[in-house]
This record gives sequence, C-alpha cells and structure tokens, in this order.
Amino acid sequence: MGYVNEVFDKVVRENPNEPEFHQAVKEVFSTIEPIVSKNEKLYKEAGLLERIVEPERIVSFRVPWVDDKNQVHVNKGYRIQFNSAIGPYKGGIRLHPSVNQGILKFLGFEQIFKNALTGLPMGGAKGGSNFDPKGKSDNEVMRFCQSFMNELYKYIGKDTDIPAGDIGTGGREIGYMFGQYKKLTGLYEGVLTGKGLTYGGSLARPEATGFGVGYMAAEILNGVGSDVSGKRVGISGSGNVAIYCAKKFEELGAKVVTVSDSNGYVYDENGINVDVVKDIKEVKRGRIKDYLNYVKTAKYVENEKPWVETLDIAAPCATQNEVDEKYAKLMVKNGVKLVVEGANMPLNIDAINVMKENKVLYMPGKAANAGGVSVSGLEMSQNSLRLSWTFEEVDNRLKDIMINIYKQVTETAEEFGLKGDFVAGANIAGFKKVATAMLAQGIC
Ligand code: NDP
Repeated sequence: MGYVNEVFDKVVRENPNEPEFHQAVKEVFSTIEPIVSKNEKLYKEAGLLERIVEPERIVSFRVPWVDDKNQVHVNKGYRIQFNSAIGPYKGGIRLHPSVNQGILKFLGFEQIFKNALTGLPMGGAKGGSNFDPKGKSDNEVMRFCQSFMNELYKYIGKDTDIPAGDIGTGGREIGYMFGQYKKLTGLYEGVLTGKGLTYGGSLARPEATGFGVGYMAAEILNGVGSDVSGKRVGISGSGNVAIYCAKKFEELGAKVVTVSDSNGYVYDENGINVDVVKDIKEVKRGRIKDYLNYVKTAKYVENEKPWVETLDIAAPCATQNEVDEKYAKLMVKNGVKLVVEGANMPLNIDAINVMKENKVLYMPGKAANAGGVSVSGLEMSQNSLRLSWTFEEVDNRLKDIMINIYKQVTETAEEFGLKGDFVAGANIAGFKKVATAMLAQGIC
C-alpha cells in the first residue's frame, strides 16, 4: 500500500477542511491497490495518483442576485473541472446551502470514475453554489441562475464542459441557465444536459438515474438467482432520483414502502403512490409529510430515516453520508439483502464495512446511479446529430449501459480475485480506463 498511502496522506495534508473529498479518495484508493501494485513503477514515475487527485482547474466566483424585495444577496459559485482524460468535463450543478469546495471535489472525483464506467467519452466535473432554491420564487431562482451563468459561461461549451442537474437543479434551473448562456454567447448548442424537450432535451433524461438504479438492482439479483419482483424496497429522498427509482421498482413488481426528505420519512404499506410524490415535489414544491393529505392510511415519522423499517432492498437516493454505521446495522437487522446507491456516497465508510461484514450485496453509486450521466451523454449525441430519439430507444440504450456496467464491475472484480466485491470492481474498472488514457497523453 506504499504509493497509495503516500498519495492519500498528501491529499489529507494539502486539502485541509475537505473531509468528504478525503473520504471519496480513501474509498477509491482502498480498493485499487491490486492494479496499482501491478504497475507501481510506471504509475509512480508518471505521478499518476498525484495527478488524478488534483483537479485540472477550479473556478470559484461571486454570484450576486436581487430578491423580490430588491435586497441583494451574494452566494459562492464553483466549477471543478477535475479530469478530461477520456472526454470533455461532464457533471452536475448542485444548489444547496451545504455546498462548498470540498463537497464539490468529492463529487467531481467520483464523477471521473462513474463517467468512465458508462463507456461514453466524458471526463469528470462538478459545480454548484451554496444558494438554496427552496422557498424562493421562480423569479428569484431565475435571477440567481442568470447571475451564476454570467460567470460560468466563460468556462463551459459543448465540446469543453457540459454541466447538468443535481440536488436543487432540475428542469427549471437548467432552463434559466441555458437561456442565459444563449443570450451571452449567441450560441444555440448542447452546453447543458437535462434540458426541456422543446429545446434540445432528451426523452427519458428525467427518469434516467432512477430507472438505472432499478435496472442495476434487477441485474444484481439476477446474478444471484433472484429477482426484484415482490421485494419490499425502502427509498430515501423524494427528489428526481428517488421518484423515478420508485417508479422503476414498481414497474419491476417490487413494493416501494418509503420515501423521505430532510425532515422525515413516509411509510405506505400499500406501496408509495409515485404520482402523489411527483405532485407534492415537482408541482407544489412541498414537503413529503404532505403525502398524508393524499393517502390517509400512510404514516409520517418526523426526524427519522426509512432504515428503521423492515425491507429487502435499500436504495438511498438523498445525499452523501445519510447512512452511518448505526443505520447500516439497522438495515441488516431489518432484513436488507441489497443496497443500491441512487445518491452519491450515501453510505459512509463504516456503513460500507457493515455491509461487507454481513455479506449484503452492495452496489456503489458510481456504478448504480450512472444512468443519469449516461443519458446526458445520449442527450449530447442527439444534440450533435440534431435528432431526437424515442423514449423507447433512449430507455433501451440506458438499460444496455446499466447491464454493461454490471458486467464490467463483476468481471473486473473476478479478474483481480475479488469476486462479489462490487466496490473494488467499479473502482478498478473506472480507474483503469482513466489511467490508461492519462498515461497515453503524457504529463499534462
Ligand atoms: P433533488 O434535489 O431532486 O432531491 C434531493 C432529495 O434529497 C430531496 O428529497 C431532499 O430533501 C433530500 N436531501 C437533500 N439533502 C439532504 C440532506 N442533507 N438530508 C436529508 N435529505 C436530503 O436531487 P436529486 O434527486 O437529483 O439527487 C439526489 C442524489 O442523487 C444526490 O446525491 C445526487 O448527487 C445524486 N445523483 C443525481 C443524479 C441526477 O441525475 N439528478 C445523477 C446521479 C446522482 P429536502 O427537500 O428536504 O432537501
């Protein structure tokens, strides 16, 4: 572990106050030793690990905007262009009060390997702001997005860096950002993905991340001679990923019994009604406890997470580190046999260890939630071709990509004598592709 540990220590030393970034590097570095030790001399001479943990570029900027009462507010804006070895930078924009440089570096770092797993030519990036769209009027959100783009447009483009959505950035925000990019540059180009259908968006993009999680779960269970049908599924979050993850699990014959937000969770023994969740979250922009106004028999538990319920499958789809050791142990105790991550890094390292110790099937986010960026890649292809594919065509490609990711993950794990270790399989497969491209391109 010499070289890997050396570089990890340097990351911690040189990037203080970025615990999420340290955690993401640790998670990857703790599993790539088998491939690093085979190529240690080559990698060391090329400073490969030192380069892979250092973003190619970080842009940080002021985002001033005026609220509906004419009061000026100032937020911090960022774009982390992490790695362009296998394609132009690609990764979402997060709008949430918790956003800081360290969180975006963790997300950008994860994105490098996720994008590599998709098989599409996309480098890793992430961006965002500590702006909170919750409780803001449409006009306030628009003014923020325009101000954000007033700076960001200088650094992005259809062949250089193509941002997308993430927490707090949905179709509305992407629309405002796209409009401002067009106004500033005079270019009508596929510079953002997750666009609306009338201006270059792809069918099945809103569904892609959640559907991909469902397809991945089906593949994993198929691999152990089981299936999704009839299983009790717990989902956390009630945003874009959670909603379409619930829909896909339902289509596959499972019963989704929970969804949540940062205030609490809803339990519905009859199966969560996805249309109700969509209405609350996408139309009314309300809170998940409002579910009880529609379904009187459901239960709402304030300040608690879904993992206290009896479940077969857990799909955390809210945010990073939402599952710690305590909740991981509860999941195991309550019958969870499979964890598929819709969110990025929802399990902390102690929670991952609980899954390993208890032989719970565990697919990390960089593989399980790669469906979103995959269909973003397909949106870029359609924009370049000036064509729109049908829902079925995009959905079929998405399914094939998820199956292929599962194959890469499992075959790579086997190749390195780590059968069943999906974390190692995903990290090594993604890393290998990026490392090979970086070595071929010289020191840059
Ligand atoms: P949304 O903004 O649509 O929804 C986020 C959901 O998570 C909301 O229900 C929100 O509740 C909850 N949440 C956010 N922060 C917290 C927190 N600190 N504690 C508890 N709950 C929280 O985001 P997405 O659905 O797009 O993203 C969810 C996760 O999936 C993120 O980790 C994201 O990085 C990841 N992801 C998203 C992709 C995409 O295509 N959108 C692609 C791949 C990964 P509340 O309203 O209370 O904040």
